[in-house]
Amino acid sequence: MKERYDPKESEAKIAKYWEENRIYSFRKGAGKVYAIDTPPPTISGFIHMGHVYSYSQADFVARYKRMSGNSVFYPFGLDNNGLPTEILVEKQNNITAEYVGREKFIELVETTIKDYERMYIETYKRMGISVDWNHYYTTISRETQKISQRSFIELNAMGRAYRKETPTIWCPKDKTALSQMELEDRSFKSEFVKIRFSPEVVIATTRPEMLPACVAIFISPDDKEHARLAGKKVTVPIFGQEVEILTDRRVDPKKGTGIVMCCTFGDMTDIEWYKAYNLPLRVVINEKGQMTHGHFNGMKIKEARVSIIRELEEKGYLLEKEEIEHIVNVHERCKTEIEFIVKKQWYIRYLDMKADLRRLGEELKWRPEHMKTRYDNWVKGLQWDWAISRQRFFGIPFPLWYCARCDEPMLADIADLPVNPLTSRPRGVCPSCGSADFIPEVDVMDTWATSSLTPLINMRWGLEGEIKEIYPMSLRPQAHDIISFWLFTTIVKCYLHTGKLPWSDVIISGHGLDAHNKPMHKSAGNALEPLPIADKYSADALRYWASSAKLGEDASFQEKEVIAGSRLINKLWNVARFASSNRAGKKELSNVVDRWILSRLAIAARQATAMFEEYNYSGAKRVAEDFFWFFCDNYLEFIKHRIYRGDASANYALNEAFLAVLKLLAPFMPYITEAIYLDLYREGSETSSIHLSQWPIFEEASIDEAALAEGEKICRAIVYIRQWKHDNGLALNAELPEIALEGCSSQAKDEIMGAMNIKKIVKADTGTEIPGTGMKVILKMQS
Ligand SMILES: [Zn+2]
Ligand SMILES: [Zn+2]
Repeated sequence: MKERYDPKESEAKIAKYWEENRIYSFRKGAGKVYAIDTPPPTISGFIHMGHVYSYSQADFVARYKRMSGNSVFYPFGLDNNGLPTEILVEKQNNITAEYVGREKFIELVETTIKDYERMYIETYKRMGISVDWNHYYTTISRETQKISQRSFIELNAMGRAYRKETPTIWCPKDKTALSQMELEDRSFKSEFVKIRFSPEVVIATTRPEMLPACVAIFISPDDKEHARLAGKKVTVPIFGQEVEILTDRRVDPKKGTGIVMCCTFGDMTDIEWYKAYNLPLRVVINEKGQMTHGHFNGMKIKEARVSIIRELEEKGYLLEKEEIEHIVNVHERCKTEIEFIVKKQWYIRYLDMKADLRRLGEELKWRPEHMKTRYDNWVKGLQWDWAISRQRFFGIPFPLWYCARCDEPMLADIADLPVNPLTSRPRGVCPSCGSADFIPEVDVMDTWATSSLTPLINMRWGLEGEIKEIYPMSLRPQAHDIISFWLFTTIVKCYLHTGKLPWSDVIISGHGLDAHNKPMHKSAGNALEPLPIADKYSADALRYWASSAKLGEDASFQEKEVIAGSRLINKLWNVARFASSNRAGKKELSNVVDRWILSRLAIAARQATAMFEEYNYSGAKRVAEDFFWFFCDNYLEFIKHRIYRGDASANYALNEAFLAVLKLLAPFMPYITEAIYLDLYREGSETSSIHLSQWPIFEEASIDEAALAEGEKICRAIVYIRQWKHDNGLALNAELPEIALEGCSSQAKDEIMGAMNIKKIVKADTGTEIPGTGMKVILKMQS
């Protein structure tokens, strides 16, 4: 073995070895199937340390499961359709999709994503993520399009997909409809103004520009002060429309003036009232977020706000204005304040499924357990069916046309999928009116409408070579911020299509943060790239950092953790070099110290296994690492004298324990453990990789209680004498011609003499007690 381990050279060589020997291929029939629904990273331009953090954590589990005898199905996909990818291409080329036009834009996206795909794949390979590249997919591939379009057609047949002209959540910047899950809260400064409609009706609002869209006024039925107003009519200042005053429980009488206006549409409550009271529709904002009412025609919303406040003030309608900070809904991708637009959209109906969805959440095994609450709260708070139409270009098309005469939707035949309605036409004629003229659907499907199908994409649902045995899958690993997007929508769709939960277990990872506990963002300039750090230290050392944080916790990137990983790698290499010159012969365990260390190993391995079974990989790593350092600092020191004599029992135990340590650490540090395995232990073994070898399983019976007790005493005595040597400035291997020692077995005596280089032990009538051993000792410096 080489004197020094060179991670850069070795990791590249080993990665190649894994690929050539298909170490991570899914082997049907080779054990119980353990299938992982790998998150397909979104192509949005950049892989940072946070990706390494969460993907490594799922990989620890995959590697453990593989070594535990499961047939692991661990695919990889890339999410390359949808708004994030479009935004990346727009930014990179400094264009807008609208400006270059549909066809050219799609071409541009296709060429741009090719480079990113390469970069993404290279990074995940470099980080040692043990996915099976034979099961690679992208969310825009022909096969995925087939599956996604089939899903839409089936949901339509079930009555779950419907098209409706309704108010839709809208991003004026990206000019597309959004779903509830794409919103987040942001705090903004705004002006809160009190407007006098009549001497009795005063309304406080942050959106006075919506006055022309006012269609009703609401008060609470519990509001005694304003009760007499109910049923009366009032005129909207400046714009002059007469509106009725209605009562509704959604009004909080203690908020503002207790009287609120309903405009079409200022917020979600407006939409609920519009539907519940069958109110008229007065549209004043267009799809670009501009005002369309004659009064403000063409103005931006904020300009209109300033203008109307000035006018209200001039005409005496403004009673008060106040600067406030308030929470508004923004589009999570671009942070633009959302608006509501009335549009014909396709929806997936799921509001009626809340009880089922809650029950499905109960059936899942969640780790950490508390993450289930986020799912429950999301399901409880659902207010909208799932809007899946997007007014964008680069996505999976709806397999759909409309009759030009009667607007009847015509769906494609499943046999013809994938279809692009823009370049093809449906079979036959309109079943309602017999017309043969069709208009294609130009909207595309939301990217989550497809990524919610990953379990079915993985099993090649309805395609040639369907892999039925992987469904339902075993595990969904993912980050906590997309519980409401990806986890939730996957349960919805897979349940509708299969009647089953898509997986049995879910593990939720936290985020990798920068060294100051801030989320990494390219725009903030704090996004660390993993490859330069892997080059500087090693992929193993980076993974070591990822393994130190508990599942579900956010963890800041600490270079000192990576350095600790490097130190462990070097120590493993040094021990390997020591073990390599002292290979085990036959199995022989004649020495109590050897039986002691193997019993300690059995305890550690059993703990690590139990922890891994509960997805507590960080606990498993800690146990394995603690054992290894203890093994180095004590056992290896204690047995050197026997190793130099070629003692068979010591050689056997040393190699047995070290190989087990390598296996326990293999899920975390796949490269160094493989490098040592191939050098030292491959010969004579049936497996070509440590990652296919058997995880160390120890029955309780393999723990030798007597050896444990005796070994512990010997260990304490040696540590005591070692400390004494250290305190007296003696080298640890300095010869002690004579000590007095009482209260130990003859075997213990031999071990202590050998380990501490003691030439003679005599009886100690008095002497100091060595704590926890029952031994007495007299140590004296020789003159
Ligand atoms: Zn947006
Ligand atoms: Zn028709």
